[in-house]
Amino acid sequence: MRALVTGGAGFIGSTLVDRLLAEGHEVDVLDDLSTGKLANLADARGDRANKVTFHQFDVRDPQLVDLIARRSPEVIHHLAAQISVRDSVARPAHDAEVNVLGTINVLEGARAAGTRKVVFASSGGTIYGEVGSRDLPVKESHPQVPLSPYGIGKRVALDYLHLYREMYDVEFTALALANVYGPRQDPQGEAGVVAIFAGRLLADEACTINGDGGQTRDYVYVDDAVDAFVRAASKGGGLLLNVGTGVETSVNDLYTTMARAAGVNRPAAMAPSRPGEQRRSALDPSRAAIHLGWKPWTSVEDGVARVLDWFKRQPA
Ligand code: NAD
Repeated sequence: MRALVTGGAGFIGSTLVDRLLAEGHEVDVLDDLSTGKLANLADARGDRANKVTFHQFDVRDPQLVDLIARRSPEVIHHLAAQISVRDSVARPAHDAEVNVLGTINVLEGARAAGTRKVVFASSGGTIYGEVGSRDLPVKESHPQVPLSPYGIGKRVALDYLHLYREMYDVEFTALALANVYGPRQDPQGEAGVVAIFAGRLLADEACTINGDGGQTRDYVYVDDAVDAFVRAASKGGGLLLNVGTGVETSVNDLYTTMARAAGVNRPAAMAPSRPGEQRRSALDPSRAAIHLGWKPWTSVEDGVARVLDWFKRQPA
């Protein structure tokens, strides 16, 4: 099978590229390297260089439609995005250009080329907006009331996916990702706290927790998330599916687990809470289990240990 991975030089995208290559597929990678790195594709370009082709340009560029027509991928995994919630508030038009217009460009290419499936990286942490404690872990049927331009863009993209399915038979699956963490992750991303803590713990610097540390997130390990993309290539058509663990982990618990794994005794430094920060978040993954046969299998303990190992192996 030939696949196109947009955002394939990024954290999740490059892990997906590695997995697709390991399964023997041919992969085209589109990335403008705005946050992604060629270093993330070092394994891919080393072992299976003849199976991967890298294209460096913007997902909004009309030449993407030509590229998709020329390469004719069966499946497009669309992960290229402006990923910072904070930047989306500072530059909402830019966020919409990359995340909404970029998605339309991908869909135009898929339509023209007759692509069998588009798998879209949506965001479970932002599309539902504030979720009451009785609705946690949140299901896909929950109203979508995003509280950031980033969340709005991810929600609007879903409308376009539905529209292209109806009008042009372009099949899709949208994965509402929880807070994905793992090797290669950028500290600026949605689960950036794991990368930030890892860097500071290994440098023997104090980690800072904002607020009382009771705020929770649903941390899903990158290999598990990538497995959902692979499954969605052939299953889950027309659906939004949560990709999370259903488990809430507080920042305090995350810190304790990571400090223990790093052999650090020092308590975290406490700082004032960030205004507007969501208190609790967790995604119910039952629908992904039914439609993709997907379940998360990596515990936070195992996952953060792997992140710490990876950070230790990076050049200073
Ligand atoms: P990332 O920044 O590592 O990956 C995004 C990639 O897209 C980068 O390689 C970047 O260079 C590329 N990119 C950005 N703008 C581009 C443009 N205009 N044209 C071409 N390429 C462009 O982030 P990630 O964490 O790997 O996120 C991948 C996807 O998953 C994104 O769509 C993100 O919104 C989504 N997501 C991530 C998380 C998470 O916890 N990391 C949670 C929910 C959703």
